[in-house]
Amino acid sequence: MPRLVILGSASAVPDADHENTHMVLHGDHSAVLIDCVGRPLVRLKQVGIDPDEVGDIILTHFHPDHVGGVPGFLMSTWLTGRTAPLRIYGLHHCLQRVEDLMMAYHWDEWMGFFPVAFHHLPEERGVHVLENADFDIIASPVKHYVPTIGVRVVAKKTGFVFAYSSDTVPTSSVVELARDADLLIHEVTADEPLGHSSASQAGTIAQEAGARALGLIHYTVWNTTPAQRERLCDDARTTFDGEVFLCEDFQEIPLRR
Ligand SMILES: [Zn+2]
Repeated sequence: MPRLVILGSASAVPDADHENTHMVLHGDHSAVLIDCVGRPLVRLKQVGIDPDEVGDIILTHFHPDHVGGVPGFLMSTWLTGRTAPLRIYGLHHCLQRVEDLMMAYHWDEWMGFFPVAFHHLPEERGVHVLENADFDIIASPVKHYVPTIGVRVVAKKTGFVFAYSSDTVPTSSVVELARDADLLIHEVTADEPLGHSSASQAGTIAQEAGARALGLIHYTVWNTTPAQRERLCDDARTTFDGEVFLCEDFQEIPLRR
């Protein structure tokens, strides 16, 4: 059964129980990492996914709390004997900087490195990212401080549709990505007109899209209590009629209706 596993749910500042926001799609034949931060190798192992199964990484944007784990992931998997190719997808703004980052580490001198291909996506709505035996994925630009994409994923075995906003203000491209989706996971950092959204704004987007359920992610964990965080769900329910939940680290979401 295809599943989505939340590997981190925090906004830019993590704590002991919440890593920065990233997640993995896991199907019968593949694993696709969405953003790569902290210690993905460790987290993947903790949720029972062999890091070598990850053939694709989608990077939503070049902020440290979304891509900071790339060098460590590449180095760790190389050191643990990976030989399988890895494909990394993102906008040019992001991938160019990730490649520069790796060059700063002189990774071209690391001997016997497995093949890594960077797929630069055009900054256009509904651009096709990848299709494999388990998933079909498209992306669209959203509105954040730097060029950023959100994604729409179809789990081919079940037809389940999942959308993820990444970091963004409320925007119509997320409504399109989440149109009639079974699940929208939307960021709820704060009402920050140049880069982020509040929980009630996330609810409005889910409502406009006709999504069935809304998962809240990329929320403030530093110096907040569980009760304060749970209130985000109440805020989202003021604007959205469907099911609302707060994403938590290590949460497993079956991608079936
Ligand atoms: Zn960001």
